[in-house]
Amino acid sequence: MLDLVFLGPPGAGKGTQAKRFAERFRISHISTGDLLRKAVDCGSRLGREAKEYMDRGELAPDELVMALIEQQLEGRSAEKGAVFDGFPRTKAQAEALSELLKQHERSIDLVLFFKVDSEELTRRLSGRRVCGECGALYHIDSNPPQRGSRCDHCGGEVIQRDDDREEVVRSRLKVYDEQTAPLIDFYRSQSLLRPVDGEGTVDEIAARVVEAVSRQ
Ligand code: AMP
Repeated sequence: MLDLVFLGPPGAGKGTQAKRFAERFRISHISTGDLLRKAVDCGSRLGREAKEYMDRGELAPDELVMALIEQQLEGRSAEKGAVFDGFPRTKAQAEALSELLKQHERSIDLVLFFKVDSEELTRRLSGRRVCGECGALYHIDSNPPQRGSRCDHCGGEVIQRDDDREEVVRSRLKVYDEQTAPLIDFYRSQSLLRPVDGEGTVDEIAARVVEAVSRQ
């Protein structure tokens, strides 16, 4: 059993690394951003409620996010452990996660904190593109799709997420500083925090992630 939290600002590369790590070690990848976007796409009540917050670059309410996480932990897919990506994002979520894991006789093993400077974050987020079908990630400069706006993997259309527009990006970074960054100290005080240099190639960062986890 391995339960990890990937913490860091939007654009730090948590999603890419979480997906890779989870596939390699065959544990579940739980991204609240992906779960919320799915809920928005299928038009559920929860999705409609979350969309208002997401469009403004604000955080969705804690209760709503916790309901999604509970569902994930009930199923069998996360029984070998999970990488929590983009969650928790508030102190209330962090406390609720510890409590929930305890009920399942689990606990967080490690929190990887991805460090990237703020100019680089803005560059990554504003150039980020995503496949609307399969979720594959691209960047207009460093990793563009090979065939115009078609996804290399599934041929779906590659688009810019609504909340990667510049004005929303600014608000997401501010929300991170105010509500999520305090979790750095919260987890440091529990000796769970491991900083990871989030700059470099995807492969370089992936190697640092594996090293940080295996040192544990
Ligand atoms: P992400 O893909 O992780 O950047 O998330 C996209 C958006 O979904 C965020 O800007 C929030 O509006 C919402 N969101 C994702 N995860 C959370 C969370 N743990 N708590 C609250 N809102 C979230």
